Amino acid sequence: MCGIHDLTEQDLQPLTHSPAWLDKIKGMRFFDPHVHMTSRTTDDYQAMADAGVVAIIEPAFWLGQPRTGVDSFRDYYSSLVGWERFRSSQFGIKHYCTIGLNSKEANNEKLAEAVMEILPQFIYKEGVVGIGEIGFDDQTPLEEKYYRAQLELAKEAGLPVQIHTPHRDKKQGTRRSMDIAIEHGLDPHMVIVDHNNEETVKEVLDRGFWAAFTIYPFTKMGNERMVDIVKQYGSERIMVNSAADWGISDPLAVPKTAALMHESGIDSNDIHLVTYINALKAFAQSGQINEADFGIVIDQSEKFNGSTVLRGGQQPRHNKNTTIIR
Ligand SMILES: [Zn+2]
Repeated sequence: MCGIHDLTEQDLQPLTHSPAWLDKIKGMRFFDPHVHMTSRTTDDYQAMADAGVVAIIEPAFWLGQPRTGVDSFRDYYSSLVGWERFRSSQFGIKHYCTIGLNSKEANNEKLAEAVMEILPQFIYKEGVVGIGEIGFDDQTPLEEKYYRAQLELAKEAGLPVQIHTPHRDKKQGTRRSMDIAIEHGLDPHMVIVDHNNEETVKEVLDRGFWAAFTIYPFTKMGNERMVDIVKQYGSERIMVNSAADWGISDPLAVPKTAALMHESGIDSNDIHLVTYINALKAFAQSGQINEADFGIVIDQSEKFNGSTVLRGGQQPRHNKNTTIIR
């Protein structure tokens, strides 16, 4: 007989009492093309894997406070192509990233110049599927300068571009981002315009760009609004992401939105397109994505430069449903 302290086979299984929304999307696979895992925990990775997330893209962004030197960028980019990808693989989630100088920190010209110099050392690395997230924040002249410089870099490298559109003056900022991309000779099919809403979606789609939507509580989009957008505009060139980061956000936003779409009667093929296929197609243009790599669970006791996600004697999976923590 099993004592209460014996680890059973069941302890190592995914969530046994799954929430109702998880049942609606059972067996589906998801690709979240915008999520900042560096600021999330292993619990999030586990929950995402249990909900069917098999691949993610982590765009380079700012840290919540300004960096003071180029070495912080260098270490951050290194972690996106190194440790973070390894950490993700331990949960069977294929990790990709986009590399770029974010718009906020483009306003520090001396630092921005130094960052531009090191970008070519990172953008050709394995698993880098685009230049991102770049674009406008306050729409300043320096933001424009480094946005343009990075569009040139993307063109040279043949990589897709992931555009962060501003919160303030969104419609104008989104239009300006697209105008400048066209001016630099980028094919709209190589450009993913992110953080869209009801105000911007039509123009982005009409002009042939990919339209990404961030489901982020309180500030960007709620997923009920997302359901309405897919009902109105269909599923062509539209993709959903969580943009989960250190703020109040939800790394399960993509599977949850799929569940809500299912409940709202949206065709399962359309759900598959906006939560998986379109992101795959857009970013596979980098030549860096092989779908066969998705969802392969790697032994959690494997090491990356001598480090693992496990600490002395830990089991590979931790059952969150029990009150006992061993
Ligand atoms: Zn972001």
